[in-house]
Amino acid sequence: MRAAVVTSFTQPLEIREVPVPIPGPGQILVRIEASGLCHTDIHAAHGDWPVKPMPPFVPGHEGVGIVEGLGDGVTHRSIGERVGIPWLGHACGRCDHCVKGWETLCEEQQNTGYSIDGTFAEYAIADADYVVQVPLGVEPHEAAPLTCAGVTTYKAIKVAGVTPSERVAIFGIGGLGHLAVQYAKIVGATVIAVDVDDAKLAMARELGADHVVNARSVDPVGAIEALGGADVAVVLAVSPSVFEQAFASLRRGGRLVCVGLPPENDGPMSVPIFPTVLKGISIIGSIVGTRQDLAEVFTLHAQGRTRVIAETRKLDEVNAAMTEVLEGKAAARLVFEF
Ligand code: NAD
Ligand code: ZN
Ligand code: ZN
Repeated sequence: MRAAVVTSFTQPLEIREVPVPIPGPGQILVRIEASGLCHTDIHAAHGDWPVKPMPPFVPGHEGVGIVEGLGDGVTHRSIGERVGIPWLGHACGRCDHCVKGWETLCEEQQNTGYSIDGTFAEYAIADADYVVQVPLGVEPHEAAPLTCAGVTTYKAIKVAGVTPSERVAIFGIGGLGHLAVQYAKIVGATVIAVDVDDAKLAMARELGADHVVNARSVDPVGAIEALGGADVAVVLAVSPSVFEQAFASLRRGGRLVCVGLPPENDGPMSVPIFPTVLKGISIIGSIVGTRQDLAEVFTLHAQGRTRVIAETRKLDEVNAAMTEVLEGKAAARLVFEF
């Protein structure tokens, strides 16, 4: 089978012919139909983060495909079923986080396309317990972005506890952001979309944003303050300074939801203590979502309540596609189709 392989953090990915993997006990073999390109795959390929994957590896964690093989002991999946393979490839199922429904915090977790080979390949193996069935009527190229961008932003809106009368500012209207706008609208909030690109902001408007702010032409903090300040600011942009702007745009009682993961070398965000205390600000880190969150995301989409904006690419174009995303030229999500 063909796979896109990271061989080194400083080299382009290589398209290689590799053996089809064999599912072990508790695993399934999935023939990949579509796999979204998340910005995280670029961080993985470049070794941007403090905990690094080990080349050679296959990135990709928005994989959608058909179950074609069952490992020993797998009785709850069937051949022919369509599943999504998310970032959370495996968790222990026994620790306090797992038992409390916070499997995304499990210390024993394995991450697809990072610590285990991912879905930029014609086939992938996955833990049968950690894939999520894709409902009928949800197409693979739409299910793929939902498998990370969707579940991650759905969870971010959930953990912020957004209520209908609140204003939510979404910083970064890319793959994650175009879905974040929609989940914030679904819970009834007033949405302010912030990006540096007018085309992304036009898309945000089309998806329901009430206000848009181009952070390249105006100061987003002042613009959001003029609207009364944000109750919730969700940061999806890949730059520490945007986290600081998002913090500064909050009104009293505000919540900063940190989702974007800039490279370690870009440094920390700086948070002033005085306004944090006096304004009663909460700072929340939010990492992907659980299998239940993903099932809810798929259901919303099957009900026609969300739109996925995606353009398809061939796996051979993986390096060019990564450049498109880094340059901010991609329509919300790029999806490899097989
Ligand atoms: P993306 O490249 O598709 O989107 C980033 C967007 O930010 C782009 O639209 C870009 O124009 C915009 N942007 C750039 N500079 C900006 C600025 N100064 N102000 C406002 N917007 C700006 O990336 P993505 O796939 O949506 O991922 C975003 C980040 O989220 C990445 O760091 C990724 O690794 C991370 N991520 C985190 C989780 C999690 O669970 N926490 C899950 C998935 C992705
Ligand atoms: Zn992702
Ligand atoms: Zn666990």
